[in-house]
Amino acid sequence: MRCFMELTGRDFKPACAMTRLLTALAMSVVTALPAFADTVADAKRLALEAVEQNAEQIATVGDVIFYFAEPGMQEHESAKYLRETLEQIGFEVKPGGAELPTNVWATWGSGKPVIAIATEMDALPAGSQTAGSISRKPLVDGAPGHMEGHNLMAAAAVGAGHAVKKAMQQFNLPGTILVSIAPAEEQLISRPFLVRGGYFKDVDAAIVTHVEDSLSTGYGLGTYALIGANFTFHGRTAHGGINPWDGKDAVDAVVLMDIGMDKMREHLRPTYRAHRTITHGGVQPNIIPDMGQIWWFVRDATGPWAKENFDKLVDIGNGAALMTGTTMQMEPFGAAWPLLGNKAVAEAVQKNIEAIGMPNWTGEELGFAKALQKSMGQREVGLQTQPLPLASGRQIAASNDIGDISWVTPTGTINFPSVVPGIRPHHWSAGITPTMSIGHKGAVTGAKVIAASVLDLLTSQELRDAAREQFDKDTRESKYFSLLPDGAKPPLDLNREIMDRFRPAMRQFYLSKKATFD
Ligand SMILES: [Zn+2]
Repeated sequence: MRCFMELTGRDFKPACAMTRLLTALAMSVVTALPAFADTVADAKRLALEAVEQNAEQIATVGDVIFYFAEPGMQEHESAKYLRETLEQIGFEVKPGGAELPTNVWATWGSGKPVIAIATEMDALPAGSQTAGSISRKPLVDGAPGHMEGHNLMAAAAVGAGHAVKKAMQQFNLPGTILVSIAPAEEQLISRPFLVRGGYFKDVDAAIVTHVEDSLSTGYGLGTYALIGANFTFHGRTAHGGINPWDGKDAVDAVVLMDIGMDKMREHLRPTYRAHRTITHGGVQPNIIPDMGQIWWFVRDATGPWAKENFDKLVDIGNGAALMTGTTMQMEPFGAAWPLLGNKAVAEAVQKNIEAIGMPNWTGEELGFAKALQKSMGQREVGLQTQPLPLASGRQIAASNDIGDISWVTPTGTINFPSVVPGIRPHHWSAGITPTMSIGHKGAVTGAKVIAASVLDLLTSQELRDAAREQFDKDTRESKYFSLLPDGAKPPLDLNREIMDRFRPAMRQFYLSKKATFD
């Protein structure tokens, strides 16, 4: 909290050295509305205190979700727990939404403006790992686990939601706060359905959050667009030796689709990505397979480019079916627009980041981070101690369906420091720290920055106008359209078989801890 007392945002009196220059520009507003400026500063202070006082509750939410360890679309226990916790805080909770039974959607307050906090909560298949163990030690062999820290993101969102609600209540701030914790981010399933269902149409601005090894925000394009689909070919079985001429080989179609896409690669933009896995490749060599299946992800730097690539892929699939006399069925599976960070919101977030600062790591935490880095063959740099400066253009070729939200409402991004540098997501080693103090302290810092930034958006018409103006500029050339084909439905059975198999053994690790925020 280095200089928060004196700080910040567009509406209050600046005194912190780092922000004095920038916020001096807002002095005219401050002098015009001194009483309100004081109120906003007090509301922010109260929210930060509320996060600090509930640090243990935030840690509890994160830990409970970690041990549920539910992968996409199977977040039944996680969603129930988050809903109950948000209800206890006073939020109004909607069950499901957009045909997503495990969607968490909770609001507090009424009327405009509506400011959203959005994040996700799903685990990953085969990620089970014992917290704090530097060597590979699954809790349950082969079971899913949190090897990215989404458990901490859900916890930070709830903690921030609680703090903002408390500040709004205390200072009679008008508006609505929305907490959206969506399922199946790892398969890029849910946000296109939520956005298509109009869930974000009345939202004036959103803050989206993710764990990182740093405390940072940014603007411009952050991730890639993606479209995924399963292509299933149906043919006719025959004996491979006796009468192959009677067969129609569905796996030949799969192979031809793969070759066709390889021939296409030279003619795609250099920014494209296309990767696949063959999910059904026949039964045995002397049976001409009547079924073959290939699962594709295609990506590009923009939504329309990803769509162009995908349409070409579908044509190739149809060509493969024609060549083999088979039929093709396409089942959409995941879609995402690139994350578009709003510059005006990012500037406000950055001020909060600099005011709040990084957690104070203990010698023990720094030592553990180095030991973990050493064991993973990474440079022993410990933990980040300074927030990153504001920057644009950090687009990476990974995707997150939270991007869809950012094309329908001005969106700020907050990465909070719960990850040990050099430890990569989707690897079991990323499951070591999400219930340790490194993870907890990062989430508390994240909750503070989220709460302060949401209060900026709630209380400053000027900031919302600037964010809207930036949004209109950013989306002038490229308007959002759904990357979901007509009639697409969420795959409710996704990961069901995995959870049926592992849940009984995972249950013994569930924590029966309530998080009681006050
Ligand atoms: Zn993630």
